[in-house]
Amino acid sequence: MTRRLVKTVDELNLAQGQIAHYSLQVSSNPEMALPFTVVAGKKPGKTLCVTSGVHGTEYSPIQAVVEFTSQIDVPDLEGRMILFPVVNLPAFQSKSIFTSPVDGLNLNRVFPGRENGSLTEAIAHTLTQQVVSKVDYLIDLHSGEITEDLFPFALYHETGDKVVDSQSRLLATSFGVELVAKTGTNEDEGWSDKGTLYAVAAETGVPAIIAEAGSGEADSKSVSTLTTGLTNAARAMKMIGGQKQRGSSSGQPRFLHRLLPRKAEFSGLFCPTHAVGDHVHKGDTIGHLTDILTMTKSEVTSPAAGVIIVQLKSILADVGDTLVEIGVL
Ligand SMILES: [Zn+2]
Repeated sequence: MTRRLVKTVDELNLAQGQIAHYSLQVSSNPEMALPFTVVAGKKPGKTLCVTSGVHGTEYSPIQAVVEFTSQIDVPDLEGRMILFPVVNLPAFQSKSIFTSPVDGLNLNRVFPGRENGSLTEAIAHTLTQQVVSKVDYLIDLHSGEITEDLFPFALYHETGDKVVDSQSRLLATSFGVELVAKTGTNEDEGWSDKGTLYAVAAETGVPAIIAEAGSGEADSKSVSTLTTGLTNAARAMKMIGGQKQRGSSSGQPRFLHRLLPRKAEFSGLFCPTHAVGDHVHKGDTIGHLTDILTMTKSEVTSPAAGVIIVQLKSILADVGDTLVEIGVL
């Protein structure tokens, strides 16, 4: 298959009803190009950009973008979809968790990036300047990394712009997952969305969400949650017709007040005592951390009452790593 190399989505000139494959050249790094597919509906309309593979071992979202791209009903689509299955190619190709093997940076912490920065910063800059700022909506798909378990949720970033915020909120609530949260950059309130793709998109004026399902390896249930969610969200934006499909949640989503991490106080083997989706009280034991040099075993307790949305599997945790993330209800 031949792919046309482009520097910006402004160069796309697809006729209505066409599908084409491209590669986006990363500015200042001509050897790096990110594959993407564009689907132009039969009628003109808004443009939705879907990204996954911001993190290298989040395979359910990557598989979901592959499947969703082939499932789009072109005659039923109004507008365009721009779909990137893997935006962090260095992390994907090396199966690296959280960070890039090239510069040690977490792509989802460096948006909007820097043109002449490191490769991860350049990828962020190119995506922000040449794609995200030129589309109408953005959905960034994630899951747990291969080392994590995760309960499905969607987040949107509050900007203060009523129109952007209400559309971001609609994307999140229509996606079809049970848990939704509004996030901000204030670290005193728990998890901060500073430097994330969806927060920077929203601040640029593009309604956006991050939607998460799955635990690293691609499983059919999580892939289905994400492809159904994309369909639901596109329908809510009136880009496709039909009734809302059921997602992983059959009713209205529940709103989380904040996301609170419990971090490792020393390096050790973490063994969780609960499953993601479990409800816990503040102070409940949620796992144990064992220093294998001293055989010191320490109880890990929940920082708040809520639901466990992300946790490390039974693996080595470095000091400062997030062991468990609590969604506070
Ligand atoms: Zn991720």
